[in-house]
Amino acid sequence: MKKLLILLVVAFALAGCQSNKNKIPVYAWESGPRDKTDKEILKDFKDLKKKGVDGLMYNGGQDPAVYERVGALAEDAGLEFHAWIPTMVQSKEGLLDTSLYAVNGLGQSAWTHPAYVPYYKFLCPEREEVYDFLEGMYAKVADLPQVDGIHLDYIRFPDVILARGLWDKYGLVMDREYPEFDYCYCDSCVKHFKDQSGIDILEVEDPSRVEEWKQFRYDQITSIVNRLADMVHAKDKVITAAVFPGPNSVAKMIVRQEWDKWNIDAFYPMNYNDFYLEDTEWIGEVCKEGVEAIEDRVPLYSGLFICPDPAAKAAEPDPENHGLVPSEIQDAIVESIDNGAAGICLFTPSRMTKEGWKEFKKAIYRPKE
Ligand SMILES: [Zn+2]
Repeated sequence: MKKLLILLVVAFALAGCQSNKNKIPVYAWESGPRDKTDKEILKDFKDLKKKGVDGLMYNGGQDPAVYERVGALAEDAGLEFHAWIPTMVQSKEGLLDTSLYAVNGLGQSAWTHPAYVPYYKFLCPEREEVYDFLEGMYAKVADLPQVDGIHLDYIRFPDVILARGLWDKYGLVMDREYPEFDYCYCDSCVKHFKDQSGIDILEVEDPSRVEEWKQFRYDQITSIVNRLADMVHAKDKVITAAVFPGPNSVAKMIVRQEWDKWNIDAFYPMNYNDFYLEDTEWIGEVCKEGVEAIEDRVPLYSGLFICPDPAAKAAEPDPENHGLVPSEIQDAIVESIDNGAAGICLFTPSRMTKEGWKEFKKAIYRPKE
């Protein structure tokens, strides 16, 4: 009993400290469920809730039954639950006809010659069969009462230029757009662009100089997003997306996302500073750019890339194992919020160390205005 009393006193004291403060909204990208039991999942979710996470962008494949099951557990834990399912990358054999995959400037299909990594099997955004597949796949998940929203990812072209921090990893110098990484030059895209602009892009020496060709591809992605948004909104659900930073400084240039034109309910730019050899100040700059681009119409949550093993970061050659170390987490959060972000999104909670959570807690409470 005495123990309980002490706990209560401590709890009230903590609550008192924070009563004149607001907690910022916190989301987290999380994958699962692998072979975890319901009990184990619920325990993890309750732990995240206690640490200050409000909602999950949850990737569990494409089977609605997974979202039905895990979504119910998220609700029990008091978490918002969004189904995070990749859009243009579909690398599973037999899911779609291979003729529907994007074609690069050398005429190679992303199905047979994926860029950079084997899973980079991107679909052509022009083909109606592709849209029909995506709509059907997302609709089944959006229909579930356990799902609050659809979270798009890989809603883009393959990186025509890689983030600067990744050049060494792939042994590339990406000083301009190279045809090997430039999509989509399939017959449908070439024809539609010629009908629309009068330009035969296959006859152009340097397609990267043709502004209309760039805009054509921004519009292809925007069209898919806005059609999916209409479908999801008709079901009274929200639709959000993980995007590259920008849109102008990075997203349009390297993955052809003109995301300020997207009719969605929130943006989650992946402000992964280490990929761009930048610091936490840059996170603030790209938040400001994004919020201004969308004219504050909807919230922007700043995606933060967490370092899984801070002690080994300096000796770690792979940038995908870099990320924010505990001493940078407060700065990254403050930079984001001070520059207009409505909250943050962690990639990922499982990469957070004990020390990281401590720093995180110091930054998520803000003085009331
Ligand atoms: Zn195409």
